[in-house]
Amino acid sequence: MLKSSLIDSARELAPDIVSLRRAIHAEPELGLETPKTLAKVREALADVDLEWRTGTSCTGAVATLRGAKPGAEGRKRVLLRGDMDALPMDEKTDLEFASTIPGRMHACGHDTHTAMLVGAARLLDAQRDTLAGEVDFMFQPGEEGYHGARFMLNDGLLGGNEERPLPDAAFALHVMPNAPFDVLAGRPGPLMAAADQFTMTVKGKGGHASMPHDCEDPVPAAAAIVGAIQAMVTRRFNAASAVVVTVTQIHTGTAHNVVPDDAMIAGTIRTLTPENRAAAHRLIAEVAANTATAYGVEASCEIEPGFPVTICDRRAVTLGRKVAQELGGSEAWRDLADPIMGAEDFSYVLEKVPGAMFFLGVAPQGEDWSSCCAIHSPRMHVDEKALPTGSAMLAGCAIEFLENGWA
Ligand SMILES: [Zn+2]
Ligand SMILES: [Zn+2]
Repeated sequence: MLKSSLIDSARELAPDIVSLRRAIHAEPELGLETPKTLAKVREALADVDLEWRTGTSCTGAVATLRGAKPGAEGRKRVLLRGDMDALPMDEKTDLEFASTIPGRMHACGHDTHTAMLVGAARLLDAQRDTLAGEVDFMFQPGEEGYHGARFMLNDGLLGGNEERPLPDAAFALHVMPNAPFDVLAGRPGPLMAAADQFTMTVKGKGGHASMPHDCEDPVPAAAAIVGAIQAMVTRRFNAASAVVVTVTQIHTGTAHNVVPDDAMIAGTIRTLTPENRAAAHRLIAEVAANTATAYGVEASCEIEPGFPVTICDRRAVTLGRKVAQELGGSEAWRDLADPIMGAEDFSYVLEKVPGAMFFLGVAPQGEDWSSCCAIHSPRMHVDEKALPTGSAMLAGCAIEFLENGWA
């Protein structure tokens, strides 16, 4: 396979990829409903022979490209994913194609993911005769906390039944605006954390602030719980396996001379293994209840599960590294030493299908990448010259897997 020609072909497609990205960027959609974005995708791929599947839970769609090369029985299928949704925030860039909708911005780069995936579909369409297998292009809404990938899996859009099993491999990219321009990165094992939310209620009995002995004061109990949670994290978990628990809200009281009836504490739990995740849920509730008891009040804890840990298959990362280096030389790939504690709902796909997510650095070429705004910033900026690399990388991973499997 001539991967060097793949990058040249991707660069020829650059004007199309960029104009699609800008059109999506200007008209961001939120959550599980991204019909206009999907319409732009379908229009951009209208002349490509694809089999489209849509579901009922959201506007997600999977387009299948059938390779024309006769292959052995049991042809392989590889999935490539791009997410389509934006964030509920105002854009503060002065780009000519900035968001036209107040309170919405593509600040996580999902506009670029969708456009790069369309580019990959065109690249693979051009090589259809050499592909002995199928490629599923997964256009997914609802990544930003809406579990869009899980809905698409549950709708059966990725397969998982007798006539159509799940794909054999899955790949996705995420742009990083504060990482070196045009460099791909990844790591085997945990790449991103599980992210769960907790909400605690500390129940006491209010009264006059001058007579706390006649009350059951939830305030010192709440303060002690916040400290006890941090002590629990450092004393009960192996320091080599990261666990982050951050209290982000404490609400209680209405006046300087009134002991309130109760206090509310909320925050986020980030873990990198299913075992630590379960233990953190149990221990946080335990610490809250037992600390409250010591203060003569009661505490309850509710946990709302978020996305699971994003775990990359070692073979898929090896494949990705090989493809990236074939496309751009040894400098085009960086092994990530550590996971990051953000979360990503491609994790639902990787729970079922071996695969990997890679990061693509899109800091402006030649600038100090470390000082650039990160994703979710109202000023985040993408150097679009890196987008053809993303399309070539996605297409290259599909070609490599269909040709050589996990080798
Ligand atoms: Zn995001
Ligand atoms: Zn994202």
